[in-house]
Amino acid sequence: MPLYGVRDWFLCYNLDMDLMASVEELKGIGPKTAEILKKFGIKTVRDFFYNLPRDYENFSKPSAIRDIVPGKVVIKGQISDLSSRRARKRNLSITEGVVSDKTGAIRVVWFNQSYRLRQFAPDKEYYFTGVYELKNGRFQLTSPSAALASEVELTNGPSPIYVAHGGLKSGDFRRLMDASRNKFAEIPDLLPTASEGKRRESLFKVHFPDSPEDVQTGREYLAYEEIFELLFAARLNRRENEKLKAVSVPFELERIRKFVDSLPFKLTNAQRRAAWEIFQDMEKDLPMNRLLQGDVGSGKTMVAALSAYEVVGDAGKKRGSECRQVAILAPTAILASQHYESIGPMLGKFGVRTALLTAATKKKAELKKQIAQGEVDIIIGTHAILTDDTEFANLALVIIDEQHRFGVEQRQKLMLKSPSGLSPHLLAMTATPIPRSLQLTVFGDLAVSVLDELPAGRQPVTTQILSEIEMREKLYPLMREIIRRKPDSKRHGEHAHGQQIYWICKAIEDGVSEVTSVKKRARQLSEMFQDLKVEFLHGKMKPAEKDAVMERFADGEIDILVSTTVVEVGVDVPNATLMIIENAETYGLAQLHQLRGRVGRGASAAYCILLTTGDLTPSRRLREVEKSNDGFHLAEVDLKLRGPGEIYGALQHGALDLRIATLSDTRLIARAQKDVEQFLTNPENMVKYKELMANIKKYQQITTLN
Ligand code: ADP
Ligand code: MG
Repeated sequence: MPLYGVRDWFLCYNLDMDLMASVEELKGIGPKTAEILKKFGIKTVRDFFYNLPRDYENFSKPSAIRDIVPGKVVIKGQISDLSSRRARKRNLSITEGVVSDKTGAIRVVWFNQSYRLRQFAPDKEYYFTGVYELKNGRFQLTSPSAALASEVELTNGPSPIYVAHGGLKSGDFRRLMDASRNKFAEIPDLLPTASEGKRRESLFKVHFPDSPEDVQTGREYLAYEEIFELLFAARLNRRENEKLKAVSVPFELERIRKFVDSLPFKLTNAQRRAAWEIFQDMEKDLPMNRLLQGDVGSGKTMVAALSAYEVVGDAGKKRGSECRQVAILAPTAILASQHYESIGPMLGKFGVRTALLTAATKKKAELKKQIAQGEVDIIIGTHAILTDDTEFANLALVIIDEQHRFGVEQRQKLMLKSPSGLSPHLLAMTATPIPRSLQLTVFGDLAVSVLDELPAGRQPVTTQILSEIEMREKLYPLMREIIRRKPDSKRHGEHAHGQQIYWICKAIEDGVSEVTSVKKRARQLSEMFQDLKVEFLHGKMKPAEKDAVMERFADGEIDILVSTTVVEVGVDVPNATLMIIENAETYGLAQLHQLRGRVGRGASAAYCILLTTGDLTPSRRLREVEKSNDGFHLAEVDLKLRGPGEIYGALQHGALDLRIATLSDTRLIARAQKDVEQFLTNPENMVKYKELMANIKKYQQITTLN
């Protein structure tokens, strides 16, 4: 293969190309193709080379059709009897054919790929790879990919499969890549390495492998570079954060003790520990950068209240820059007002002035003036806090609830609102645990407190997967039973019939997809349970309407609340003890766990029903949620099932998109960590490796909470 043949040539012709040049600079890519590529994020020459194959096909050893067994198979044969039809289900076309070789014939089926009808010449041989399986009582090869045998046999290694983009199929990418084959020689190294040219060699191996080993070693090196960048960014952030200053908040034991004694319950040990860690951080004149992780219902709000109380100090008496202020940012208006209603009175007893600032707040200008003059100590709100005209007299602590709901820019905006030269302390709270490996790498300088204990008296939520067809027999009786139960003693409002029910649907309106909508389900349940109050809630309602419904639900006036996932975050209605999630198979693991966390907040036994449609066997994801109530365990499972890129993506709105590396590879992380330190010992490196410095800018923004 050319790679090894031209290796020496690579080295002597090291004319570093401009990786940041437009893709159009590459051979075979004209303005039209470039336009398509750009739409999918492939803008530069670098993007093009780093558009790595999604997978590989290995056509080298096709099986005889007579010998194949269910599972992934490669066969080689001619195709005949192609036909296409519409399925009864909307929007689905089915294309079928028969592939035969000397030993036998099998049926192949594609969905929504009617171009297959025109793809094949009847007298030519093709390779097909796909899954051979039993479907509706017949064996078939499902959605195989296909390649002309005469073309495949020209290359002898694994054949890369690229993700198709806007009319550019995998094969088109292969052709384009091939046209740029010679350009690989000009790709400069990103990092200092033991052997020069490691990067271009690895990229080449991944795009033009001779063997599966090529793919593996190539990818491994590219993953290493990616991790290096990430760790390097985190390391530089740490350097920069060490330069920041914050207001030091002296710990006042007596005041805190009095406050804790005033609470209607005892703090859990985990809450005490977390608060203690926070107090210690805030005594320093360096900004705290702490994440409070706690499973749903673990009482994070209480820790937030304690921290806020500690910061405002002897509040109520001070004005202007004399005071110390706290901003508490929540992702939804419902949640912000709930925090306001619980924290406001709790701290009000001690003279702390708390205000709510959301889009619906009346007399905003007046409130903002009070905030600017230091007449309010704690400001609880939504995005409304972030507007430019909200100024603080002396913002000393920022608390962000459900931090993953906010983008980096939003968090940064808030951090900039502190007095000049100082940075506020930051406490970010989340119920979505960040796996340890991610903590260490991505958030190198992040301190973490964990609430690993639920308040006493909580009962675990019993979770069960039910199929739609079992609704009448099992679900409706359970709903009846919940409504007949005495209201939960903790908090129920005067109006509750009995205990209450959440029913989660995927869609708001009918029609877009096959799933039952909030509105339709609410109608159906109203008819079914005529003596009960059924209402619905969804994100398209006006904020005031949403709040009103939520309030009535919290007061017990509504028995069954049919809702989209807007209730997912943080809402606290202890009298609700049954959560039904329809189309459960369409949700992610973390989201299911979050939703389930809306129940089991009181003293009564609570249930979560994962309702699935169709007769599919429940996925591993659903079974894990059914088995375990432990958010940390589920996060680890999620990491395994999905990979950290996606989990991190969910945490950070997709800001970090690792293409190759998996953060669970601790060996690779350790190696990169060592090399980063080594790299930093030579200041010249920062000048020499310009591309690296440019690349990590993006990581640098997201590897810190502030
Ligand atoms: P989350 O961690 O999910 O944000 P919350 O802060 O909403 O949890 O707390 C859940 C419920 O537990 C609230 O009703 C809160 O008042 C209650 N709670 C918090 N701490 C304790 C405690 N130490 N003992 C008993 N109940 C508590
Ligand atoms: Mg919460």
